[in-house]
Amino acid sequence: MGQTAANKSQYDVVIAGGGMVGASLALQLCHHSQQQLRILVVESFPIAKSHTAEAPLYNPSFDARSTALSYSSQLILEPLGVWPLLSKYAAAINSIHVSERRRLGSTMMKPGDVDWPALGCVIENAWLGNVLLNALREKDTIDFLAPASVKHISPQQQGVTLMVEQNGSEKTVAAQLAIIADGANSNLREQLGINARVHSYQQTALIANVSFTKAHQGCAYERFTDQGPMALLPLSDSELSQPRAALVWSLPNDQAATLSECDEAEFLKTLQQRFGHRQGEFIRVGDRSGYPLKLVEAEEQVRSGIVVMGNAAHSLHPVAGQGFNLALRDSARLTQLLVAASQQNRALGDLGLLQQYQQQQQFDQQKTIRFSDQLPGLFTRNQFPLSVLRSIGLGFWIFFRR
Ligand SMILES: Cc1cc2nc3c(=O)[nH]c(=O)nc-3n(C[C@H](O)[C@H](O)[C@H](O)COP(=O)(O)OP(=O)(O)OC[C@H]3O[C@@H](n4cnc5c(N)ncnc54)[C@H](O)[C@@H]3O)c2cc1C
Repeated sequence: MGQTAANKSQYDVVIAGGGMVGASLALQLCHHSQQQLRILVVESFPIAKSHTAEAPLYNPSFDARSTALSYSSQLILEPLGVWPLLSKYAAAINSIHVSERRRLGSTMMKPGDVDWPALGCVIENAWLGNVLLNALREKDTIDFLAPASVKHISPQQQGVTLMVEQNGSEKTVAAQLAIIADGANSNLREQLGINARVHSYQQTALIANVSFTKAHQGCAYERFTDQGPMALLPLSDSELSQPRAALVWSLPNDQAATLSECDEAEFLKTLQQRFGHRQGEFIRVGDRSGYPLKLVEAEEQVRSGIVVMGNAAHSLHPVAGQGFNLALRDSARLTQLLVAASQQNRALGDLGLLQQYQQQQQFDQQKTIRFSDQLPGLFTRNQFPLSVLRSIGLGFWIFFRR
């Protein structure tokens, strides 16, 4: 239906936030309920309207980052009908190379090492966002409001009411369930008095696409340095003739600022020194941007009629590329429970049902959060034997096949 002013005021599920998590959850709920659930997605950022699914426009709410998608995320996205388009610009991860700067040792995980056909793939966020939002707009049972904003959520005896603002006017919408997916600095979470534990890593992730002289052959690099981890994720071929990759370089804040602003030659020289020559010579860098790194964990994720999801529930250090993958596993679990509940005419905002979701995801969430949290600090303090590097390589492998 897409971008119409919602004339309905009663929904099964309202999702506050049409980022990667809100959009993919809406598609899952729509598909797995066989379009039985009435869903409203409210996104505060203006989203350019694109005309065809085959040629979606660039969407500025999805930034210049790229996302490493695990194989299990691919399995979640495939039934939604978006995979043929997503895979058009996805680069397969064929191996993971883990190394530590200032030592010769490194470890390489390849498909033959464990019994799994592939590790996953890397997709640029701009493309991922376009494909998800275009798919969402085509669904008759999803209303998509953008730019519009959820200003307030009020729990009711049955479900919730939400105050939605669009074009300067406000309207009240009722739902069985509200999903808060408004990002790490969630206003709605705060408004409801849900505390979040926040730990700053005192580092910034410097993001840029880089090109180099040697073909990457689908190799993802994770390099640990005394200043923080550096990841180089393979990207699909573009009109550029050189191979390219997405760089995620965690650095102390001042160094990230210096490297964001220096000229291209200086940046490439520093990168070459830090990364080495495994990909030949670095020859170009695209737009650079910085993301202050922090771990955010909401102290509550469910209340009667409310679920907090995605970055609003848990925002992770990007070292293991797990934030969105974890959120997809969360949303797959929630979808399964909600669809079953709706088939049994059970209220979707029922606290017992939502607690069941949280209990079922708790182990996965805690394991993923702790792996992402502890990894970056390990190599700033110690030099480990090669067996530790190998275990870390295996850790990446395990997370990418979950
Ligand atoms: C450098 C970096 C690299 C990463 N790499 C990976 C990776 O390789 N693999 C991986 O799995 N994860 C990765 N992640 C994590 C991933 O990016 C996040 O998990 C994901 O973006 C979370 O999406 P979200 O929708 O929860 O939040 P957001 O992307 O923050 O979206 C929230 C949305 O809500 C909207 N909004 C806010 N307030 C309101 C309101 N009141 N009403 C309506 N809308 C509102 C905002 O406009 C926004 O669009 C990375 C993260 C970083 C920082």
